[in-house]
Amino acid sequence: MDIFERTRAMFHLPEGVTYLDGNSLGPLPIAAQERVDAMLRDQWGEMLITGWNKAGWMDQPARVGDRIARLIGAPSGSVVMGDTLSIKVYQALASALELNPGRKVILSDSGNFPSDLYMADGLIRTLDRGLELKAPAPEEVAAHLDSDVAVLMLTQVDYRTGRMHDMEALTRAAHAAGALVIWDLAHSAGAVPVDLAGCDADFAVGCSYKFLNSGPGGPAFIYVHPKHATQVRPALSGWLGHEQPFAFDPDYRPGAGIERMRVGTPPVIQMAALEAALDIWDLVDMDAVRARSIELSELFIALVEEKCPELTVVSPRDPATRGSQVAFSHPEGYAIMQALISKGVIGDFRAPDILRFGITPLYTNSNDIIRAASTLHKIMEERLWDRDAYRVRARVT
Ligand SMILES: *Cc1c(COP(=O)(O)O)cnc(C)c1O
Repeated sequence: MDIFERTRAMFHLPEGVTYLDGNSLGPLPIAAQERVDAMLRDQWGEMLITGWNKAGWMDQPARVGDRIARLIGAPSGSVVMGDTLSIKVYQALASALELNPGRKVILSDSGNFPSDLYMADGLIRTLDRGLELKAPAPEEVAAHLDSDVAVLMLTQVDYRTGRMHDMEALTRAAHAAGALVIWDLAHSAGAVPVDLAGCDADFAVGCSYKFLNSGPGGPAFIYVHPKHATQVRPALSGWLGHEQPFAFDPDYRPGAGIERMRVGTPPVIQMAALEAALDIWDLVDMDAVRARSIELSELFIALVEEKCPELTVVSPRDPATRGSQVAFSHPEGYAIMQALISKGVIGDFRAPDILRFGITPLYTNSNDIIRAASTLHKIMEERLWDRDAYRVRARVT
């Protein structure tokens, strides 16, 4: 049996639904239900506070981090789980700035996810030492790498279009310019092969609830290059990043290596779900996932272009520069997406006019792609989107 038919059977996919939004929230791994249930029943329920030792809750952030490390080309002991991605962005940026103190510019790009830019802005205000955030167009980032840049902070795969930066080349260029590099892997982890060690990246962060399928509110991860992990002084210096949390020392002393990037109490229940999801990831090879993702993406683009000429492809044509998502634009994109969802094909909408579809080989096959394209075709051809009800904006789009 094809490995991806096997993995598909390991997810709960609601009857009649074609799910192309796993880039935003992955579906439920069937085993996660029993795993979380068992955690509640046998660990929280029976062990109470002794679970921190008996069930290994305290070691879980590093243990789970190691499982994610494999998917992003990081050595064991360099990744730890906790908090949300926005927090991890702040933490990585504060640490990187402190490691490169003489310079004033944080360089990002205008396509970055707003939260990353907001966190940078907030940190700049807190530090109040004349730092500046620059966010040129993604294609112009390399040209802005000069001797003022302290940190290059980029999201590898654009959350809207799927455009993918060349991680290796930009990391090399940034290092040559004397800057440190932070990669946000929100749309890379579990989507494309990543080689953090091979690229010599300084920091990386990402979330687990998108391609990795940990469920809503699943914890983020942070990677720190081993050469920095013993140097950085965490700005969010919480007790669980302390060398000896249970010494209750009034002074902060950073913990060993990556452990210092922990902040407070980890989300143990949520990590039980993530561990069940990672059992599925253990079965596959990222190169095979990538090959299937390209195959399905190319099929989707070809079908939509053929059947829906009103939609414009806004993702890169060259699969080598595209992540694992495909986007189209249309002035009525929001209404079209609502019509599509009402017919059981779930993607999402990103302002101002983008219809976005995640391509996730673990549970999406070519039949799903064909069904999605033909449903979209019907909606466009019969103008089924042209209803007031489909124009009412929900809180989450
Ligand atoms: C999804 C995403 C986030 C979300 O951050 P949370 O704190 O987990 O809500 C942040 N940055 C990028 C680049 C994202 O794609």
